[in-house]
Amino acid sequence: MSLKEKIQGLAQSYHEEIRSWRRHIHAHPELSFHEEETAKYIASILEGMGLQPERNIGGNGLAVVIEGGKSGKTKALRADFDALPIQEENTCAYASTHAGVMHACGHDVHTSCLLGAVKILHETRNDWAGKVKFIFQHAEEMTPGGAKQMIQAGVLENPRVEEITGQHVYPDLEVGKVGFRKGMYMASTDELFIEVVGKGGHAALPHTLKDPVYGSAQLIVALQTIISRHRPPHIPSVLSIGKVEANGSTNVIPEKVSMMGTFRAMDEAWREKALGLIEKTVKEVSASLGLEGKLRIGHGYPYLENDPDLTQRNKSLAEEYLGKENVIELDLRMTGEDFSYYGHEIPACFYRLGTRNEAKGLVHGLHTSKFDVDEEALRIGAGLMAFLAAKG
Ligand code: MN
Repeated sequence: MSLKEKIQGLAQSYHEEIRSWRRHIHAHPELSFHEEETAKYIASILEGMGLQPERNIGGNGLAVVIEGGKSGKTKALRADFDALPIQEENTCAYASTHAGVMHACGHDVHTSCLLGAVKILHETRNDWAGKVKFIFQHAEEMTPGGAKQMIQAGVLENPRVEEITGQHVYPDLEVGKVGFRKGMYMASTDELFIEVVGKGGHAALPHTLKDPVYGSAQLIVALQTIISRHRPPHIPSVLSIGKVEANGSTNVIPEKVSMMGTFRAMDEAWREKALGLIEKTVKEVSASLGLEGKLRIGHGYPYLENDPDLTQRNKSLAEEYLGKENVIELDLRMTGEDFSYYGHEIPACFYRLGTRNEAKGLVHGLHTSKFDVDEEALRIGAGLMAFLAAKG
């Protein structure tokens, strides 16, 4: 029997168990940086396999290493395990039992698939070469991000990890399929907090005031020129202002206007330059109108780059494992992921696992109260992760 057939067979026989892990994690979601019980649960399953995970790496993170039968590279597989502040609206038996908290980004799926991959690779360890480090990462959904903390705590050392692969559920892609993309794939995610301060008063007497409402309107327009006039054409980039608060009235001009927005890009040098231009625009447009413009930047994750060689290798292996017809090329996404931090250290590949099933109504988007997956994806996600590490 080939290693592929062996792994496919094990993924099939462990499917029920992986599903039970997924359902337990789904029913007991915890917010970023508060995943103590989830971390304990992951540790208990690994210990049940006779493994000794290292715990509390940079926070609630865990890692465990399995050595193959022959010497070779050290590869890492990563899954995240935090949940979101969303009230689940699904009524399935495994729905969230924690009010206002939900696994609405599929991190329960990522983690149970990785636990399944541990079990498969442990069972088959004499059949593959090198070492696999399994990284169970806390706090993907909130800055500074568990990835950064785990890297700082040395998760890519001892043994030195040479490459890393992660997967993420994708409700736009039907179950049974996976997607890859080489090069830039997801965006950096900086948050903008702007204040335009003027002099408020009676709206009938603007000549005696410094109107921050008018000033902020000018500023919103001017900020868009950073993308349209300065962005290098080959770098995807977005600037959106999503909240504008001017608490005056029909006859009151307020003292100040607050705005919130996001700046996203796929290049670190351009990102830095654009943030400088945003700062300059906020200050100078405001000043030209006699207002004071203040900017605070909430620095988010860097952009996500998929290493071309590793991604090509993983994609070819996925074609071998699932059939060519089940492996697609992904589009760029302006959302972010703290998996990007690993890719700024070592070759990394972040791919998508299809979870959609229209016939079963499993079509809802990530970060929504009705998100759920076709659990067939667990068998595919666990087996494929194991296969990529064993054959890579
Ligand atoms: Mn996610």
